[in-house]
Amino acid sequence: MSRQKELIEQGQKYLMNNVGRLPLCLVRGEGPYVWDADGKKYLDFVGGLAVNAFGHCPPFLVEAMLEQARRLIHVSNLYWIEPQIELARLLVENSALDKAFFCNSGAEANEAAIKLARKYAKEKYGPEKYEIITMTDSFHGRTLATVAATAQPRFHRGFEPLPPGFKYVPFNDFKALKEAVTPATCAVMLEPVQGEGGVNVADPGYLREVAAFCREKGLLLIFDEVQCGMGRTGKLFAYEHYGVVPDILTLAKALGGGFPIGATLAREEVAAAFRPGDHSSTFGGNPLACAVAVAAVRAIVGGLAEKAAVTGAYFREKLAELAAKYPFVKEVRGLGLLLGMELDRPGAGVVARCQEEGLLINCTKEKVLRFLPPLNIEKSLVDEAVAILDRALAAEE
Ligand SMILES: *Cc1c(COP(=O)(O)O)cnc(C)c1O
Repeated sequence: MSRQKELIEQGQKYLMNNVGRLPLCLVRGEGPYVWDADGKKYLDFVGGLAVNAFGHCPPFLVEAMLEQARRLIHVSNLYWIEPQIELARLLVENSALDKAFFCNSGAEANEAAIKLARKYAKEKYGPEKYEIITMTDSFHGRTLATVAATAQPRFHRGFEPLPPGFKYVPFNDFKALKEAVTPATCAVMLEPVQGEGGVNVADPGYLREVAAFCREKGLLLIFDEVQCGMGRTGKLFAYEHYGVVPDILTLAKALGGGFPIGATLAREEVAAAFRPGDHSSTFGGNPLACAVAVAAVRAIVGGLAEKAAVTGAYFREKLAELAAKYPFVKEVRGLGLLLGMELDRPGAGVVARCQEEGLLINCTKEKVLRFLPPLNIEKSLVDEAVAILDRALAAEE
């Protein structure tokens, strides 16, 4: 039996069957490449779902990790943590927000955002102010509150009753949002680019209207940039494309370049609603995670986001050429290196043929091929991926 088959059999025996896993076990990575347990090499355009912004095991990140691991791995948030302070400074100085809270995942970053929004609104306007409006096809995480915030029934089924206090409206529909607001509404939460929901980009006019409306009505604007933040769209934060600024911003995925860490940033006045004892996390913002994230953020602001914008435009052009060639490709969309190609049919066959030929891509919402290469990917490797994709699409006809 192959080593990979053996591993998968053991996995099936010992792991909960809670994810739809592909029959692939990846054991080593270097830059844009990964290898499976049988030694087959792949060009990785999934990138741990927008986590591996620098590809696999980038030496500067490994160095930062080892250096911090030798110095101090963990202490409690009962104490001030040096790399945590530096990471907060970096994020605040490079964003329009004033304060940071650190946790370990995107869901936790959104949980903190939800708790902060409720606390702020209740203190400012009264106890009946708690409802948060979120968008169809959003994705905010898998904890109960973030599942409730996620306006996709497939994530709710079997887990009811969900925590109350969320209301859903169609994405990119300002009128629907306006009509959904009640005296109970305290915030609007959305992803400037919906990743999991099918790579749906917010219209610039829509986001400006939403931001102005929230300001006028005293509603907090929460942007979930867990997937689209940290350089993915060609700017450090996706909101920079729109000329609007959220009151609360959540980050995770690429923040640690592969090391688990999440962050919730907020405007000063909003952040002040959290007081000692209100919210915390044992591992959140620990020295090791923050030291790695400091190195990651420095690299992204040091030119990587700009590179992603250039390569993203090039990649998108190549995908548009494929869309013109194959009538079953409905649309190519996205921002920077968060790109999607919607088919008129399920994409699983294309994904499988790409994998066969040594290219890993993802498919979301059943029909949307999603491409999340490292932000430092070279154009020649984009060409290589496009050639494989071309052949995989040709086999559909
Ligand atoms: C992945 C994702 C999350 C959840 O992050 P986890 O780290 O898996 O908890 C939340 N929001 C968005 C937009 C995401 O893409």
